[in-house]
Amino acid sequence: MPALFLVSIVRLIEALCRQMRKARAARPRPLCTDCVHAHVQYAVNGRRAIACTFAGGVRPVELDVMYCTDYRDRNTAPRLVQIGFARPIGNPDLLGEVALTEN
Ligand code: SF4
Repeated sequence: MPALFLVSIVRLIEALCRQMRKARAARPRPLCTDCVHAHVQYAVNGRRAIACTFAGGVRPVELDVMYCTDYRDRNTAPRLVQIGFARPIGNPDLLGEVALTEN
C-alpha cells in the first residue's frame, strides 16, 4: 500500500512539472530581448535576467515588457545623432552649381 501511494505521488509531481514546462514555453518572449538598450543574461536552466540601460543607468527589468516607448530594434543600423550646432557644409550656392554641372 505505501508503494502505491509513493508511485501516485511521483506521478503527480511529474504531471505538475510537465504542466509548468508547457506553460513556461507558451509565454511570448519579452520585448526587451530584442532591444538595443537591454543587457540580457541567460542561465543554463533557460531563465534570463534583463537589465535596461536606457539613459545611462542599469535597472533590472522585473516584468515581461510587451510595449515600451524607448524600444529600439537591436538589428537596425545605429542612428546618427548630432549634438550641438553644426557648421554648414560648404557654400550652398556652390553645391547647386556642382549639381548642375553633373547633370
Ligand atoms: S528601453 Fe524598454 S524595451 Fe528596451 S530594454 Fe529598456 S525597458 Fe526594455
